[in-house]
Amino acid sequence: MNFALAPAKLNRINLLDFDRKGLEAFFVEIGEKPFRATQLLKWVYQEGVEDFSQMSNLSKALRTQLAEQCSLDTPEIVLEQIASDGTRKWVLETSCGNRIETVFIPEEGRGTLCVSSQIGCALACTFCSTAQQGFNRNLTTAEIIGQLFAAQKRLGSSQKVTNVVMMGMGEPLLNFDNVVAAMNLMMDDFAYGLSKRRVTISTSGIVPAMYRLTEVCDVSLAVSLHAVTDELRNELVPINKKYPLKELLAACRDNVKLSPRRRITFEYVMLEGINDSVQDAKAMVRLLKTVPSKINLIPFNPFPNSSYRCSSSDAIDRFRTVLHNAGMITTIRKTRGDDIDAACGQLVGKVQDKSRRHLKLQLVGSERAA
Ligand code: SAH
Repeated sequence: MNFALAPAKLNRINLLDFDRKGLEAFFVEIGEKPFRATQLLKWVYQEGVEDFSQMSNLSKALRTQLAEQCSLDTPEIVLEQIASDGTRKWVLETSCGNRIETVFIPEEGRGTLCVSSQIGCALACTFCSTAQQGFNRNLTTAEIIGQLFAAQKRLGSSQKVTNVVMMGMGEPLLNFDNVVAAMNLMMDDFAYGLSKRRVTISTSGIVPAMYRLTEVCDVSLAVSLHAVTDELRNELVPINKKYPLKELLAACRDNVKLSPRRRITFEYVMLEGINDSVQDAKAMVRLLKTVPSKINLIPFNPFPNSSYRCSSSDAIDRFRTVLHNAGMITTIRKTRGDDIDAACGQLVGKVQDKSRRHLKLQLVGSERAA
């Protein structure tokens, strides 16, 4: 990396783009000691200070240099909606004029922030409204950690973000480096200091990136399963054509080796008449018997022009009972914030699509046929 500082105010270095290691390298590069990194992290993430001149344990000269040549930029909150259940959705505008969404879900004793990783999404899961928006680009580290920074600033001292789920817009493992750097900051004792049990990354199953993640970053892992046969999963989660169930579950088994008490959370959206039969539940028991698992059944949240319907509560209960009787830990996700379109799969932002996704999908299909 080259940290040559810009002479003028143009091209400032956004220090929110660095995790601790990156910041240490930055300070060494400009002739400072590496411990400046922890000092800066504390000011920004623990004290919420955005003005370099207030960082009193940095030398005057360094404060001036940072003020002239660096920035602490986050995406800007342009809209806030508060649901009847207290869930808050923020629309944030990025520097390139796109919009992403971040959701805060308050519960007794905790507050969960659902964070976006990309502008739009390049995967075309058929039941997800983000997918309908197309894809623009990966978010930077600053734009990812900036969602937490902006949320905590907006919430003030009365409410605290205690948990983060990378379950907003986008596929986090397709933006690997920036997402890992942001999660490092979430867990860094000098930044947000959240425990690894309180930071969860959710993936549709980008298998090679799952192995890489296991090597470099110990966070909780959730996998969007949604179907128990390759035939159906190919349709609902098309990335399954590239990384089928057998490979996906092998990557899950590799991840649980990190600790003996570890379990993978499998997310399963309940779609009426599609994946919600008792047979499906029994097949899930067989499929997951070799993976330490927790199952999270998600009632489908509808969005305009979606052709699916949510399973009835009877069907969801029947499904849960089969799993429960087989000894599997199963929860039903409570739908939160649906009156402001803040529920799972309803986040859309404003995305200038660059993906020409339909073309790509045809290509994936023809690759498979070849
Ligand atoms: N791309 C990642 C993270 C984003 S989605 C992933 O696929 O895991 C977060 C969760 O919401 C996923 O489990 C996703 O499948 C689910 N979801 C998407 N659309 C939904 C909808 N309309 N109703 C309910 N859950 C949905």
